[in-house]
Amino acid sequence: MRLLLVEDEHDIQAFLRHSLVEAGYQVDVAANGKAAEQLALEAAYDILVVDLGLPDQDGISLLLRLRQIGVNAPVLILSARRSTDDRVRGLEQGGDDYLTKPFAMAELLARLRNLLKRNAPAGSEATRLRVLDLELDLLRREATRSGQILQLTPQEFVLLEYLCRNAGRVVTRSMILDKVWGMRIQPDTNVVDVHIYRLRGKVDGKGQQPLIRTLRGVGYVLKDR
Ligand code: CA
Repeated sequence: MRLLLVEDEHDIQAFLRHSLVEAGYQVDVAANGKAAEQLALEAAYDILVVDLGLPDQDGISLLLRLRQIGVNAPVLILSARRSTDDRVRGLEQGGDDYLTKPFAMAELLARLRNLLKRNAPAGSEATRLRVLDLELDLLRREATRSGQILQLTPQEFVLLEYLCRNAGRVVTRSMILDKVWGMRIQPDTNVVDVHIYRLRGKVDGKGQQPLIRTLRGVGYVLKDR
C-alpha cells in the first residue's frame, strides 16, 4: 500500500514514517503542501495522512487542491486543533477521518485499515496483486504462491509488494532502500541483500520456478513470464 504522509514537524514525521513502514506501508513524505501536491501528481497513492498545520498553506486548502487534481484516495487528517468546527470542516472538505494530536500509533493504524477497507472497490481488484502464480492480498497482508500461504514478516511483504508492482522491471538496491525502507542511498548497507535472500527462501521454494532474479551489480527483477 502506498501512503503519502504530509507532516512538517520533523520529529513527528520521522516517527510516523518509521512506524508506518514497520506496519507495512510504502511511505513517501512531504513536509509542505507544495511538495505533497507534486508527489500526488507523480504517483498514485492508496491513502494519505495529512497534517492540517503546514508551513506554506492550510491542510484544508491542500485537501481541496488534491481533490481538484483527481486524488480520490482516502485521507486521514491529523491536527492539533481540537475544536469541533475544525473537525467538521476537515471532514466536509474532503477528509475521510480525523485524528487529534497527540494520538496513539495503534489508533492511527486501526483508522488507516478501516479507511482502506471502506474504500476497497467491490471485487477488491485494487487490493490484490498477481504475478504468475504469486498473489498478494494487500488488505490482509497475505501472500500466497500456487495457493500456499507464505510466512512473511511485514517488511518482507512490503518488499515483495514493491517487486510485484514493478514485475518485469529491474529495481536497484537504492530504489528498494528508498521505497521500502524510506532511506536515501547508504551504499554500504546490505539490508536489501539480506532481505532479498530471506524472501527468496520463502517465495522460491523447492521445485518451484525461481521468480526473484539477481542482476549482479545492478539489482533485482521479479519475473512476470
Ligand atoms: Ca504541523
